[in-house]
Amino acid sequence: MRSDGLPGRDRRAVCHPGPSGAPRIDGDLHVAVVGGGIAGLAAATALAERGARVTLLEAADRLGGRVAAWPLGDGRTMSRGFHAFFRQYYNLRGLIRRADPALGRLVPIEDYPLQRPDGLRDSFTDLPRTPPWSVLEFVRRSPTFTLRSLARVNVPAALELLRVRFPGTYDRYDGESAAAFLDRLRFPQAARDLALEVFARSFFADPTEFSAGELVAMFHTYFMGSAEGLLFDVPDDDYDTALWAPLGRHLAGLGVEVRTGATVAGLDLAPDGVTVRAGSEDLVADAVVLAADPRSARGLVAGLAGTGPGMADWQQQVAATHNAPPFVVVRLWLDRSVAADRPAFLGTSGYGPLDNVSVLERFETGAATWAHEHGGSVVELHAYACPLEVTTDGAAADRVVERLVEELHRVFPETTAAQVVHREVLVRDDCTLIGPQPWSERPSVTTPDPRLVLAGDWVRCELPVALMERAATTGFLAANALLERRGAAGQDIWTVPMTGLLSHVAA
Ligand SMILES: Cc1cc2nc3c(=O)[nH]c(=O)nc-3n(C[C@H](O)[C@H](O)[C@H](O)COP(=O)(O)OP(=O)(O)OC[C@H]3O[C@@H](n4cnc5c(N)ncnc54)[C@H](O)[C@@H]3O)c2cc1C
Repeated sequence: MRSDGLPGRDRRAVCHPGPSGAPRIDGDLHVAVVGGGIAGLAAATALAERGARVTLLEAADRLGGRVAAWPLGDGRTMSRGFHAFFRQYYNLRGLIRRADPALGRLVPIEDYPLQRPDGLRDSFTDLPRTPPWSVLEFVRRSPTFTLRSLARVNVPAALELLRVRFPGTYDRYDGESAAAFLDRLRFPQAARDLALEVFARSFFADPTEFSAGELVAMFHTYFMGSAEGLLFDVPDDDYDTALWAPLGRHLAGLGVEVRTGATVAGLDLAPDGVTVRAGSEDLVADAVVLAADPRSARGLVAGLAGTGPGMADWQQQVAATHNAPPFVVVRLWLDRSVAADRPAFLGTSGYGPLDNVSVLERFETGAATWAHEHGGSVVELHAYACPLEVTTDGAAADRVVERLVEELHRVFPETTAAQVVHREVLVRDDCTLIGPQPWSERPSVTTPDPRLVLAGDWVRCELPVALMERAATTGFLAANALLERRGAAGQDIWTVPMTGLLSHVAA
Protein backbone atom coordinates (compact mmCIF):
# COMPACT_ATOMS: atom_id res chain seq x y z
CA MET A 1 0.00 0.00 0.00
CA ARG A 2 1.34 3.45 -0.90
CA SER A 3 1.43 6.49 1.39
CA ASP A 4 -1.72 7.88 -0.31
CA GLY A 5 -3.62 4.74 0.72
CA LEU A 6 -4.00 3.46 -2.83
CA PRO A 7 -2.74 0.03 -3.86
CA GLY A 8 -1.37 1.32 -7.19
CA ARG A 9 -1.36 4.45 -9.33
CA ASP A 10 -5.04 4.29 -10.37
CA ARG A 11 -6.99 6.90 -8.42
CA ARG A 12 -10.23 5.15 -9.47
CA ALA A 13 -9.23 1.85 -7.83
CA VAL A 14 -12.05 0.65 -5.57
CA CYS A 15 -11.83 -0.59 -1.99
CA HIS A 16 -14.40 -3.23 -1.00
CA PRO A 17 -14.18 -3.19 2.79
CA GLY A 18 -13.87 -6.54 4.53
CA PRO A 19 -16.30 -7.40 7.32
CA SER A 20 -15.96 -5.15 10.33
CA GLY A 21 -15.53 -6.73 13.75
CA ALA A 22 -13.03 -7.50 16.45
CA PRO A 23 -9.37 -7.27 15.47
CA ARG A 24 -8.93 -10.92 16.45
CA ILE A 25 -11.14 -13.98 16.75
CA ASP A 26 -12.54 -14.52 20.18
CA GLY A 27 -11.72 -18.08 21.26
CA ASP A 28 -10.44 -20.89 19.12
CA LEU A 29 -11.15 -21.38 15.41
CA HIS A 30 -9.26 -24.18 13.69
CA VAL A 31 -9.37 -24.00 9.90
CA ALA A 32 -7.97 -26.56 7.49
CA VAL A 33 -6.91 -25.00 4.19
CA VAL A 34 -6.72 -27.57 1.40
CA GLY A 35 -4.27 -26.44 -1.28
CA GLY A 36 -1.17 -24.26 -1.09
CA GLY A 37 -1.58 -22.36 -4.35
CA ILE A 38 -2.25 -18.62 -4.35
CA ALA A 39 -5.88 -19.05 -3.16
CA GLY A 40 -4.94 -21.26 -0.21
CA LEU A 41 -2.00 -19.03 0.72
CA ALA A 42 -4.24 -15.94 0.71
CA ALA A 43 -6.89 -17.64 2.84
CA ALA A 44 -4.34 -19.02 5.32
CA THR A 45 -2.69 -15.60 5.64
CA ALA A 46 -5.89 -13.65 6.31
CA LEU A 47 -7.16 -16.25 8.79
CA ALA A 48 -3.89 -16.53 10.72
CA GLU A 49 -3.56 -12.74 10.93
CA ARG A 50 -6.89 -12.65 12.80
CA GLY A 51 -5.86 -15.36 15.24
CA ALA A 52 -7.32 -18.48 13.62
CA ARG A 53 -5.40 -21.73 14.04
CA VAL A 54 -4.61 -22.78 10.49
CA THR A 55 -3.39 -26.07 9.08
CA LEU A 56 -2.45 -25.74 5.40
CA LEU A 57 -2.36 -29.05 3.52
CA GLU A 58 -0.61 -29.07 0.15
CA ALA A 59 -0.29 -32.24 -1.90
CA ALA A 60 2.91 -31.18 -3.68
CA ASP A 61 6.33 -30.81 -2.07
CA ARG A 62 6.25 -27.06 -2.52
CA LEU A 63 3.87 -24.15 -2.24
CA GLY A 64 2.66 -22.12 -5.21
CA GLY A 65 0.36 -24.56 -7.04
CA ARG A 66 0.28 -23.65 -10.72
CA VAL A 67 2.87 -20.97 -10.00
CA ALA A 68 5.26 -23.35 -8.25
CA ALA A 69 8.93 -23.80 -9.14
CA TRP A 70 11.33 -26.53 -8.11
CA PRO A 71 15.07 -27.26 -8.32
CA LEU A 72 16.37 -29.72 -10.91
CA GLY A 73 19.38 -30.63 -8.78
CA ASP A 74 22.19 -28.97 -10.71
CA GLY A 75 21.44 -25.31 -10.00
CA ARG A 76 18.78 -25.10 -12.70
CA THR A 77 15.08 -24.83 -11.86
CA MET A 78 11.83 -25.62 -13.62
CA SER A 79 8.44 -24.05 -13.04
CA ARG A 80 4.83 -24.33 -14.12
CA GLY A 81 5.54 -21.64 -16.73
CA PHE A 82 5.96 -17.91 -17.23
CA HIS A 83 3.44 -15.78 -15.28
CA ALA A 84 2.75 -12.07 -15.69
CA PHE A 85 2.13 -10.24 -12.40
CA PHE A 86 0.03 -7.31 -13.58
CA ARG A 87 0.07 -4.04 -11.67
CA GLN A 88 -3.71 -4.23 -11.13
CA TYR A 89 -3.34 -7.50 -9.19
CA TYR A 90 -3.86 -5.49 -6.00
CA ASN A 91 -4.85 -8.41 -3.78
CA LEU A 92 -2.13 -10.75 -5.01
CA ARG A 93 0.44 -8.01 -4.57
CA GLY A 94 -0.94 -7.39 -1.09
CA LEU A 95 -0.37 -11.07 -0.32
CA ILE A 96 3.20 -10.99 -1.65
CA ARG A 97 3.85 -7.81 0.37
CA ARG A 98 3.33 -9.82 3.57
CA ALA A 99 6.79 -11.32 3.02
CA ASP A 100 8.25 -8.63 0.76
CA PRO A 101 6.77 -5.27 1.84
CA ALA A 102 8.44 -3.23 -0.94
CA LEU A 103 7.71 -5.88 -3.62
CA GLY A 104 11.45 -5.82 -4.23
CA ARG A 105 11.38 -9.29 -5.80
CA LEU A 106 9.08 -8.16 -8.63
CA VAL A 107 10.83 -6.56 -11.58
CA PRO A 108 9.11 -4.79 -14.48
CA ILE A 109 9.02 -6.20 -17.99
CA GLU A 110 9.65 -3.14 -20.11
CA ASP A 111 7.88 -4.29 -23.23
CA TYR A 112 5.48 -7.03 -24.14
CA PRO A 113 5.27 -7.07 -27.93
CA LEU A 114 2.83 -9.22 -29.88
CA GLN A 115 4.08 -10.54 -33.20
CA ARG A 116 2.68 -12.18 -36.33
CA PRO A 117 4.61 -13.90 -39.14
CA ASP A 118 3.57 -11.17 -41.62
CA GLY A 119 5.73 -8.76 -39.64
CA LEU A 120 2.89 -6.91 -37.91
CA ARG A 121 3.86 -6.18 -34.37
CA ASP A 122 2.05 -4.42 -31.56
CA SER A 123 3.65 -3.08 -28.46
CA PHE A 124 2.39 -1.70 -25.18
CA THR A 125 5.55 0.16 -24.30
CA ASP A 126 5.37 3.92 -23.71
CA LEU A 127 1.59 3.98 -24.09
CA PRO A 128 -0.20 6.46 -21.84
CA ARG A 129 -1.47 4.40 -18.92
CA THR A 130 -4.74 6.19 -18.24
CA PRO A 131 -7.83 5.28 -20.26
CA PRO A 132 -9.17 6.42 -22.70
CA TRP A 133 -5.76 7.79 -23.84
CA SER A 134 -4.14 4.35 -23.53
CA VAL A 135 -6.75 2.78 -25.85
CA LEU A 136 -6.80 5.67 -28.34
CA GLU A 137 -3.03 5.75 -28.61
CA PHE A 138 -2.82 1.95 -28.96
CA VAL A 139 -5.31 2.04 -31.85
CA ARG A 140 -3.54 5.03 -33.44
CA ARG A 141 -0.14 3.35 -33.26
CA SER A 142 -1.13 -0.22 -34.06
CA PRO A 143 -0.37 -1.28 -37.63
CA THR A 144 -3.32 -3.66 -37.36
CA PHE A 145 -5.88 -0.81 -37.25
CA THR A 146 -6.01 0.92 -40.64
CA LEU A 147 -8.56 3.64 -41.42
CA ARG A 148 -10.34 1.25 -43.80
CA SER A 149 -10.55 -1.54 -41.25
CA LEU A 150 -11.67 0.86 -38.53
CA ALA A 151 -14.62 1.89 -40.71
CA ARG A 152 -15.88 -1.73 -40.53
CA VAL A 153 -15.81 -1.94 -36.74
CA ASN A 154 -19.19 -2.46 -35.12
CA VAL A 155 -19.14 0.70 -33.00
CA PRO A 156 -22.03 -0.18 -30.64
CA ALA A 157 -20.37 -3.54 -29.89
CA ALA A 158 -17.00 -1.87 -29.37
CA LEU A 159 -18.63 0.62 -26.99
CA GLU A 160 -19.86 -2.30 -24.91
CA LEU A 161 -16.24 -2.65 -23.86
CA LEU A 162 -16.48 0.78 -22.24
CA ARG A 163 -19.97 0.25 -20.79
CA VAL A 164 -19.13 -2.60 -18.44
CA ARG A 165 -20.69 -2.62 -14.99
CA PHE A 166 -19.77 -5.32 -12.51
CA PRO A 167 -21.09 -7.76 -11.53
CA GLY A 168 -23.79 -7.50 -14.23
CA THR A 169 -21.31 -7.69 -17.09
CA TYR A 170 -20.50 -11.33 -16.32
CA ASP A 171 -24.19 -12.37 -16.70
CA ARG A 172 -24.91 -10.06 -19.61
CA TYR A 173 -22.92 -12.27 -21.97
CA ASP A 174 -24.38 -15.59 -20.80
CA GLY A 175 -24.51 -17.93 -23.78
CA GLU A 176 -22.13 -15.88 -25.96
CA SER A 177 -18.63 -17.17 -26.68
CA ALA A 178 -15.59 -14.93 -26.97
CA ALA A 179 -15.38 -15.92 -30.66
CA ALA A 180 -19.00 -14.86 -31.30
CA PHE A 181 -18.36 -11.55 -29.56
CA LEU A 182 -15.20 -10.98 -31.60
CA ASP A 183 -17.20 -11.69 -34.79
CA ARG A 184 -19.80 -9.17 -33.67
CA LEU A 185 -17.08 -6.55 -33.05
CA ARG A 186 -15.79 -6.84 -36.65
CA PHE A 187 -12.30 -5.76 -35.56
CA PRO A 188 -9.66 -6.01 -38.29
CA GLN A 189 -8.58 -9.65 -38.53
CA ALA A 190 -4.98 -8.89 -37.62
CA ALA A 191 -6.02 -6.95 -34.51
CA ARG A 192 -8.40 -9.70 -33.57
CA ASP A 193 -5.66 -12.32 -33.89
CA LEU A 194 -3.04 -10.34 -32.12
CA ALA A 195 -4.61 -8.55 -29.23
CA LEU A 196 -7.79 -10.53 -28.77
CA GLU A 197 -7.20 -14.20 -29.51
CA VAL A 198 -3.84 -14.06 -27.80
CA PHE A 199 -5.64 -12.98 -24.63
CA ALA A 200 -8.40 -15.56 -24.95
CA ARG A 201 -5.81 -18.29 -25.39
CA SER A 202 -4.00 -17.02 -22.32
CA PHE A 203 -7.07 -18.23 -20.50
CA PHE A 204 -6.20 -21.68 -21.90
CA ALA A 205 -9.21 -21.82 -24.14
CA ASP A 206 -10.11 -21.64 -27.76
CA PRO A 207 -12.20 -18.45 -28.23
CA THR A 208 -15.17 -20.60 -29.37
CA GLU A 209 -15.29 -22.26 -25.94
CA PHE A 210 -14.45 -19.25 -23.83
CA SER A 211 -16.98 -16.88 -22.28
CA ALA A 212 -17.51 -13.45 -23.89
CA GLY A 213 -18.23 -12.03 -20.42
CA GLU A 214 -14.83 -13.13 -19.16
CA LEU A 215 -13.15 -11.64 -22.27
CA VAL A 216 -14.96 -8.32 -21.87
CA ALA A 217 -14.13 -8.29 -18.15
CA MET A 218 -10.52 -8.95 -19.03
CA PHE A 219 -10.41 -6.00 -21.45
CA HIS A 220 -11.77 -3.77 -18.73
CA THR A 221 -9.49 -5.10 -16.00
CA TYR A 222 -6.25 -5.17 -17.92
CA PHE A 223 -6.63 -2.30 -20.32
CA MET A 224 -9.69 -0.14 -20.84
CA GLY A 225 -10.80 0.28 -17.24
CA SER A 226 -7.55 0.55 -15.36
CA ALA A 227 -4.92 3.25 -15.21
CA GLU A 228 -2.27 0.70 -14.22
CA GLY A 229 -1.83 0.01 -17.94
CA LEU A 230 -0.95 -3.32 -19.49
CA LEU A 231 2.35 -3.34 -17.68
CA PHE A 232 3.42 -6.28 -15.63
CA ASP A 233 6.19 -7.49 -13.40
CA VAL A 234 7.85 -10.85 -12.95
CA PRO A 235 9.75 -12.32 -10.01
CA ASP A 236 13.50 -11.74 -10.17
CA ASP A 237 14.20 -15.44 -9.56
CA ASP A 238 12.30 -18.71 -9.66
CA TYR A 239 8.87 -18.52 -7.99
CA ASP A 240 9.87 -20.60 -5.00
CA THR A 241 12.98 -18.61 -4.15
CA ALA A 242 11.42 -15.22 -4.80
CA LEU A 243 7.84 -15.64 -3.58
CA TRP A 244 6.51 -18.80 -1.99
CA ALA A 245 9.35 -19.97 0.27
CA PRO A 246 9.47 -16.49 1.92
CA LEU A 247 5.66 -16.46 2.20
CA GLY A 248 5.75 -19.98 3.68
CA ARG A 249 8.22 -18.76 6.32
CA HIS A 250 5.97 -15.78 7.01
CA LEU A 251 3.01 -18.12 7.50
CA ALA A 252 5.02 -20.32 9.85
CA GLY A 253 5.84 -17.13 11.80
CA LEU A 254 2.10 -16.47 12.11
CA GLY A 255 1.70 -19.94 13.60
CA VAL A 256 0.30 -21.66 10.49
CA GLU A 257 1.15 -25.34 10.31
CA VAL A 258 2.21 -25.83 6.70
CA ARG A 259 2.14 -29.50 5.66
CA THR A 260 3.53 -30.16 2.20
CA GLY A 261 3.31 -33.63 0.61
CA ALA A 262 -0.10 -33.91 2.31
CA THR A 263 -2.82 -35.00 -0.10
CA VAL A 264 -6.34 -34.64 1.21
CA ALA A 265 -8.30 -37.74 0.22
CA GLY A 266 -11.70 -36.76 1.57
CA LEU A 267 -13.78 -34.36 3.65
CA ASP A 268 -16.49 -35.30 6.14
CA LEU A 269 -18.85 -32.54 7.29
CA ALA A 270 -19.78 -34.18 10.59
CA PRO A 271 -21.93 -32.19 13.07
CA ASP A 272 -19.10 -31.94 15.62
CA GLY A 273 -16.45 -30.77 13.17
CA VAL A 274 -15.08 -31.20 9.69
CA THR A 275 -12.86 -34.24 9.29
CA VAL A 276 -10.10 -33.87 6.73
CA ARG A 277 -8.64 -37.20 5.65
CA ALA A 278 -4.98 -36.72 4.79
CA GLY A 279 -2.74 -39.78 4.78
CA SER A 280 -3.01 -41.99 7.82
CA GLU A 281 -4.03 -39.11 10.03
CA ASP A 282 -7.47 -37.53 10.21
CA LEU A 283 -7.56 -33.87 11.08
CA VAL A 284 -10.64 -32.41 12.75
CA ALA A 285 -11.22 -28.71 12.15
CA ASP A 286 -14.04 -26.22 12.69
CA ALA A 287 -14.06 -25.20 9.04
CA VAL A 288 -12.40 -25.90 5.70
CA VAL A 289 -11.22 -23.66 2.89
CA LEU A 290 -11.20 -25.86 -0.21
CA ALA A 291 -8.55 -24.19 -2.37
CA ALA A 292 -7.52 -27.18 -4.48
CA ASP A 293 -7.19 -26.94 -8.27
CA PRO A 294 -10.54 -27.25 -10.11
CA ARG A 295 -10.36 -30.98 -10.90
CA SER A 296 -9.24 -32.01 -7.39
CA ALA A 297 -11.85 -29.71 -5.87
CA ARG A 298 -14.56 -31.36 -8.01
CA GLY A 299 -13.40 -34.79 -6.78
CA LEU A 300 -13.42 -33.74 -3.12
CA VAL A 301 -16.85 -32.09 -3.44
CA ALA A 302 -18.30 -35.14 -5.22
CA GLY A 303 -17.06 -37.37 -2.39
CA LEU A 304 -18.18 -35.12 0.51
CA ALA A 305 -19.63 -37.08 3.39
CA GLY A 306 -22.12 -35.83 5.98
CA THR A 307 -23.72 -33.22 3.75
CA GLY A 308 -26.86 -31.39 4.84
CA PRO A 309 -29.75 -29.55 3.13
CA GLY A 310 -29.09 -27.83 -0.19
CA MET A 311 -25.80 -29.58 -0.71
CA ALA A 312 -26.87 -31.96 -3.48
CA ASP A 313 -27.81 -29.12 -5.88
CA TRP A 314 -24.61 -27.31 -5.05
CA GLN A 315 -22.56 -30.46 -5.64
CA GLN A 316 -24.20 -30.65 -9.08
CA GLN A 317 -23.11 -27.05 -9.75
CA VAL A 318 -19.52 -27.91 -8.88
CA ALA A 319 -19.67 -31.10 -10.96
CA ALA A 320 -20.80 -29.04 -13.98
CA THR A 321 -17.55 -27.02 -14.08
CA HIS A 322 -14.92 -28.05 -16.62
CA ASN A 323 -11.21 -27.92 -17.14
CA ALA A 324 -9.68 -26.14 -20.11
CA PRO A 325 -7.78 -28.10 -22.75
CA PRO A 326 -4.18 -29.07 -21.99
CA PHE A 327 -1.20 -26.78 -22.34
CA VAL A 328 2.46 -27.49 -22.97
CA VAL A 329 5.43 -25.64 -21.51
CA VAL A 330 8.91 -26.32 -22.92
CA ARG A 331 12.03 -24.90 -21.31
CA LEU A 332 15.24 -25.07 -23.33
CA TRP A 333 18.76 -24.40 -22.15
CA LEU A 334 20.59 -23.39 -25.35
CA ASP A 335 24.35 -23.35 -25.92
CA ARG A 336 24.23 -19.90 -27.51
CA SER A 337 22.48 -16.68 -26.71
CA VAL A 338 19.43 -15.32 -28.44
CA ALA A 339 20.00 -11.91 -30.05
CA ALA A 340 20.57 -9.10 -27.58
CA ASP A 341 17.45 -7.20 -28.68
CA ARG A 342 15.03 -10.09 -28.06
CA PRO A 343 12.36 -9.06 -25.53
CA ALA A 344 12.01 -10.87 -22.22
CA PHE A 345 8.49 -11.88 -23.25
CA LEU A 346 6.99 -12.07 -26.74
CA GLY A 347 3.37 -12.96 -27.46
CA THR A 348 2.89 -14.63 -30.83
CA SER A 349 -0.01 -15.31 -33.18
CA GLY A 350 0.14 -17.30 -36.41
CA TYR A 351 3.09 -19.46 -35.36
CA GLY A 352 1.31 -22.81 -35.12
CA PRO A 353 0.80 -23.84 -31.50
CA LEU A 354 3.30 -21.28 -30.16
CA ASP A 355 1.60 -18.65 -27.96
CA ASN A 356 4.61 -16.98 -26.42
CA VAL A 357 8.36 -17.10 -25.92
CA SER A 358 10.18 -15.86 -22.84
CA VAL A 359 13.91 -15.39 -22.40
CA LEU A 360 14.45 -16.22 -18.77
CA GLU A 361 17.94 -14.82 -18.27
CA ARG A 362 16.48 -11.37 -18.87
CA PHE A 363 14.82 -11.45 -15.41
CA GLU A 364 15.52 -14.67 -13.40
CA THR A 365 18.78 -14.64 -11.44
CA GLY A 366 19.25 -18.44 -11.64
CA ALA A 367 18.74 -18.45 -15.43
CA ALA A 368 21.05 -15.45 -15.81
CA THR A 369 23.78 -17.30 -13.89
CA TRP A 370 23.39 -20.38 -16.12
CA ALA A 371 23.35 -18.29 -19.30
CA HIS A 372 26.46 -16.40 -18.19
CA GLU A 373 28.38 -19.57 -17.25
CA HIS A 374 27.46 -21.39 -20.48
CA GLY A 375 27.38 -18.47 -22.91
CA GLY A 376 23.83 -19.57 -23.71
CA SER A 377 20.17 -18.73 -23.19
CA VAL A 378 17.26 -20.17 -21.24
CA VAL A 379 14.13 -19.95 -23.36
CA GLU A 380 10.58 -21.00 -22.52
CA LEU A 381 7.83 -21.78 -25.03
CA HIS A 382 4.11 -22.05 -24.28
CA ALA A 383 1.28 -23.68 -26.23
CA TYR A 384 -2.19 -23.18 -24.74
CA ALA A 385 -5.45 -24.87 -25.70
CA CYS A 386 -3.72 -27.95 -27.19
CA PRO A 387 -5.56 -31.00 -28.59
CA LEU A 388 -6.89 -33.18 -25.76
CA GLU A 389 -4.74 -36.19 -26.67
CA VAL A 390 -1.46 -34.49 -25.65
CA THR A 391 -2.13 -35.54 -22.05
CA THR A 392 -2.62 -39.21 -22.88
CA ASP A 393 -0.59 -39.77 -26.03
CA GLY A 394 3.16 -39.21 -25.65
CA ALA A 395 3.64 -39.09 -29.43
CA ALA A 396 1.05 -36.30 -29.76
CA ALA A 397 2.82 -34.33 -27.01
CA ASP A 398 6.17 -34.89 -28.75
CA ARG A 399 4.72 -33.50 -31.98
CA VAL A 400 3.60 -30.31 -30.19
CA VAL A 401 7.05 -29.94 -28.61
CA GLU A 402 8.71 -30.43 -32.01
CA ARG A 403 6.41 -27.81 -33.59
CA LEU A 404 7.12 -25.38 -30.77
CA VAL A 405 10.86 -25.67 -31.34
CA GLU A 406 10.40 -25.25 -35.12
CA GLU A 407 8.33 -22.15 -34.51
CA LEU A 408 10.99 -20.80 -32.14
CA HIS A 409 13.42 -21.07 -35.06
CA ARG A 410 11.06 -18.93 -37.16
CA VAL A 411 10.53 -16.36 -34.42
CA PHE A 412 14.19 -16.16 -33.32
CA PRO A 413 16.14 -17.50 -36.37
CA GLU A 414 19.44 -17.37 -34.45
CA THR A 415 18.23 -20.31 -32.33
CA THR A 416 18.24 -22.64 -35.38
CA ALA A 417 21.97 -23.27 -35.00
CA ALA A 418 21.84 -23.58 -31.21
CA GLN A 419 22.27 -26.94 -29.48
CA VAL A 420 19.76 -27.83 -26.80
CA VAL A 421 21.87 -28.59 -23.70
CA HIS A 422 18.86 -29.42 -21.48
CA ARG A 423 15.16 -29.61 -22.10
CA GLU A 424 12.20 -29.80 -19.70
CA VAL A 425 8.67 -30.43 -20.91
CA LEU A 426 5.51 -30.03 -18.90
CA VAL A 427 2.09 -31.14 -20.15
CA ARG A 428 -0.89 -30.38 -17.90
CA ASP A 429 -4.61 -29.80 -18.09
CA ASP A 430 -5.31 -28.37 -14.66
CA CYS A 431 -6.68 -24.94 -15.55
CA THR A 432 -10.34 -24.07 -15.45
CA LEU A 433 -12.46 -23.26 -18.48
CA ILE A 434 -14.76 -20.27 -18.05
CA GLY A 435 -17.23 -21.15 -20.78
CA PRO A 436 -20.31 -19.28 -22.05
CA GLN A 437 -22.60 -21.16 -19.62
CA PRO A 438 -24.63 -18.90 -17.28
CA TRP A 439 -22.26 -17.13 -14.92
CA SER A 440 -24.62 -17.40 -11.94
CA GLU A 441 -24.46 -21.20 -12.18
CA ARG A 442 -20.75 -21.26 -11.31
CA PRO A 443 -20.07 -22.08 -7.67
CA SER A 444 -19.07 -19.12 -5.54
CA VAL A 445 -16.99 -18.74 -2.37
CA THR A 446 -19.76 -19.57 0.07
CA THR A 447 -21.54 -22.92 0.03
CA PRO A 448 -24.76 -24.20 1.65
CA ASP A 449 -22.63 -25.41 4.59
CA PRO A 450 -21.16 -22.39 6.39
CA ARG A 451 -18.17 -24.45 7.51
CA LEU A 452 -17.05 -25.08 3.95
CA VAL A 453 -15.87 -22.27 1.67
CA LEU A 454 -14.26 -22.40 -1.77
CA ALA A 455 -11.33 -20.43 -3.16
CA GLY A 456 -9.47 -20.53 -6.45
CA ASP A 457 -9.38 -19.09 -9.94
CA TRP A 458 -12.27 -21.37 -10.97
CA VAL A 459 -14.58 -19.97 -8.28
CA ARG A 460 -17.15 -17.27 -9.13
CA CYS A 461 -16.40 -13.86 -7.78
CA GLU A 462 -18.45 -10.84 -8.78
CA LEU A 463 -15.48 -8.48 -8.92
CA PRO A 464 -13.40 -7.65 -12.02
CA VAL A 465 -10.54 -10.05 -11.28
CA ALA A 466 -9.18 -13.06 -13.15
CA LEU A 467 -6.59 -15.84 -13.00
CA MET A 468 -3.99 -15.32 -10.26
CA GLU A 469 -5.86 -12.28 -8.98
CA ARG A 470 -9.12 -14.20 -8.81
CA ALA A 471 -7.27 -16.90 -6.86
CA ALA A 472 -5.91 -14.34 -4.36
CA THR A 473 -9.22 -12.47 -4.12
CA THR A 474 -11.38 -15.56 -3.55
CA GLY A 475 -8.82 -16.77 -0.99
CA PHE A 476 -9.25 -13.55 0.98
CA LEU A 477 -13.05 -13.64 0.50
CA ALA A 478 -13.16 -17.23 1.79
CA ALA A 479 -11.25 -16.16 4.90
CA ASN A 480 -13.58 -13.15 5.30
CA ALA A 481 -16.65 -15.42 5.21
CA LEU A 482 -15.28 -17.54 8.07
CA LEU A 483 -14.02 -14.53 10.05
CA GLU A 484 -17.35 -12.71 9.75
CA ARG A 485 -19.19 -15.65 11.27
CA ARG A 486 -16.88 -15.39 14.27
CA GLY A 487 -17.34 -11.62 14.60
CA ALA A 488 -13.82 -10.83 13.50
CA ALA A 489 -12.77 -8.16 11.05
CA GLY A 490 -11.62 -9.25 7.61
CA GLN A 491 -9.40 -8.28 4.75
CA ASP A 492 -10.28 -5.29 2.51
CA ILE A 493 -10.36 -6.18 -1.19
CA TRP A 494 -9.18 -3.78 -3.90
CA THR A 495 -10.12 -3.85 -7.55
CA VAL A 496 -9.97 -1.77 -10.68
CA PRO A 497 -13.09 0.44 -11.17
CA MET A 498 -16.38 -1.48 -11.16
CA THR A 499 -17.69 0.44 -14.17
CA GLY A 500 -16.33 1.33 -17.60
CA LEU A 501 -15.64 4.87 -18.75
CA LEU A 502 -18.96 5.14 -20.63
CA SER A 503 -21.15 3.05 -18.34
CA HIS A 504 -23.00 6.19 -17.19
CA VAL A 505 -23.66 7.42 -20.73
CA ALA A 506 -26.96 6.28 -22.25
CA ALA A 507 -26.54 3.77 -25.10
C1 LIG B 1 1.34 -22.09 -17.99
C2 LIG B 1 0.50 -21.14 -17.17
C3 LIG B 1 0.65 -19.77 -17.32
C4 LIG B 1 -0.14 -18.89 -16.60
N1 LIG B 1 0.05 -17.56 -16.74
C5 LIG B 1 -0.65 -16.70 -15.99
C6 LIG B 1 -0.39 -15.32 -16.06
O1 LIG B 1 0.49 -14.87 -16.80
N2 LIG B 1 -1.14 -14.49 -15.28
C7 LIG B 1 -2.11 -14.96 -14.44
O2 LIG B 1 -2.73 -14.17 -13.73
N3 LIG B 1 -2.35 -16.27 -14.35
C8 LIG B 1 -1.67 -17.15 -15.10
N4 LIG B 1 -1.92 -18.48 -15.00
C9 LIG B 1 -3.01 -18.94 -14.12
C10 LIG B 1 -2.55 -19.08 -12.68
O3 LIG B 1 -1.51 -20.03 -12.61
C11 LIG B 1 -3.72 -19.56 -11.84
O4 LIG B 1 -4.82 -18.68 -12.03
C12 LIG B 1 -3.43 -19.59 -10.34
O5 LIG B 1 -2.16 -20.09 -10.07
C13 LIG B 1 -4.48 -20.45 -9.66
O6 LIG B 1 -4.21 -20.52 -8.27
P1 LIG B 1 -5.13 -21.41 -7.33
O7 LIG B 1 -4.63 -21.23 -5.94
O8 LIG B 1 -6.55 -21.11 -7.61
O9 LIG B 1 -4.93 -22.92 -7.80
P2 LIG B 1 -3.63 -23.83 -7.86
O10 LIG B 1 -2.44 -23.02 -8.14
O11 LIG B 1 -3.95 -24.96 -8.78
O12 LIG B 1 -3.49 -24.37 -6.38
C14 LIG B 1 -4.21 -25.50 -5.92
C15 LIG B 1 -3.29 -26.29 -5.02
O13 LIG B 1 -4.04 -27.33 -4.41
C16 LIG B 1 -3.22 -28.48 -4.32
N5 LIG B 1 -4.10 -29.63 -4.20
C17 LIG B 1 -4.92 -30.16 -5.14
N6 LIG B 1 -5.58 -31.22 -4.64
C18 LIG B 1 -5.16 -31.36 -3.37
C19 LIG B 1 -5.49 -32.27 -2.34
N7 LIG B 1 -6.38 -33.25 -2.54
N8 LIG B 1 -4.86 -32.16 -1.14
C20 LIG B 1 -3.96 -31.15 -0.92
N9 LIG B 1 -3.62 -30.26 -1.88
C21 LIG B 1 -4.22 -30.36 -3.08
C22 LIG B 1 -2.43 -28.45 -5.63
O14 LIG B 1 -1.27 -29.24 -5.53
C23 LIG B 1 -2.14 -26.96 -5.76
O15 LIG B 1 -0.93 -26.61 -5.16
C24 LIG B 1 -1.13 -19.39 -15.72
C25 LIG B 1 -1.28 -20.77 -15.54
C26 LIG B 1 -0.48 -21.63 -16.25
C27 LIG B 1 -0.67 -23.10 -16.04
